Amino acid sequence: MVLIDGKATAATIKAEIKEEVERIVAEGGKRPHLAAVLVGHDGGSETYVKNKVLACEACGFESTLIRYEDDITEEELLSCVSKLNSDDSIDGFIVQLPLPKHIDEQRVIEAIDYRKDVDGFHPINVGRMAIGLPCFISATPLGILTLLKRYNVETSGRKCVILGRSNIVGKPMAQLMMQKQYGDATVTVCHSRSRGLKEECQQADILIAAIGRPGFVTADMVKEGATVIDVGTTRVPDASRKSGFRLSGDVAFDEVAPKCSFITPVPGGVGPMTICMLMLNTLSAGKHEFYQ
Ligand code: NAP
Repeated sequence: MVLIDGKATAATIKAEIKEEVERIVAEGGKRPHLAAVLVGHDGGSETYVKNKVLACEACGFESTLIRYEDDITEEELLSCVSKLNSDDSIDGFIVQLPLPKHIDEQRVIEAIDYRKDVDGFHPINVGRMAIGLPCFISATPLGILTLLKRYNVETSGRKCVILGRSNIVGKPMAQLMMQKQYGDATVTVCHSRSRGLKEECQQADILIAAIGRPGFVTADMVKEGATVIDVGTTRVPDASRKSGFRLSGDVAFDEVAPKCSFITPVPGGVGPMTICMLMLNTLSAGKHEFYQ
């Protein structure tokens, strides 16, 4: 069994990005600049944004954090998005989700200039990804693809089962695993209404779990020699930790790992890759790799 080390892979990629950034700057080019908009004081969002700013430093990017209280109106937030769209010093930006209930998230996502949409959530990027055109691919699926590639996991012609059909993980993951230029696999997507989910999982050469149900995937659901990617990150109470919680994946790791050829841990698997892929997208934005 090979443990897929997302933390180490992310560190390697960030070092590669920094090297490229310093070369670009030395040649007179512009240092990539990521802006992050954070609304309110949600603990999870604060942590994610803080880690994104730290990752920018590690990659040699400029970063700007824009904060608003959670009583900001939708119009005010849209006006901020519009300013960032037209600010030439900003190469890419994100609006950290979730947003307060009174703000229409989809409206905000669609207001972002798709050429600066480094989260890859704008319908233009989602659509271009679905038909295999150059675009910003959302960070979590891109991180998983990158791990599979860097660990030389064979995907072409293999059976891939994805648990979960969210817009940010399950659906784009299925699109990418299906496409010839990426996974080139035979893909099945299961969700909360799927019948025979266990039997589907048992057929999987590559099983990607993204449902947010701690320990859902047990050993009896996994084929001998399978590759298991655990996207789940649920906070479960843990009195032994200073924070009072620990992160739990969707896979019952201890019993599943011995059956696998490759498996990602939680934490330290997919999670660190997600922020790293945001950095890669920001580098692409700075280089105008996909759009002029
Ligand atoms: P989500 O929007 O809540 O979607 C969950 C999906 O799982 C839905 O499609 C749901 O089915 C399905 N599901 C729920 N319970 C199920 C069950 N018992 N059997 C089969 N399917 C079930 O979640 P998400 O945003 O995709 O996130 C999923 C997990 O990944 C969460 O733990 C999240 O924290 C984590 N995550 C981690 C990263 C990272 O960087 N590591 C990034 C994003 C998300 P229905 O569609 O039928 O409701």
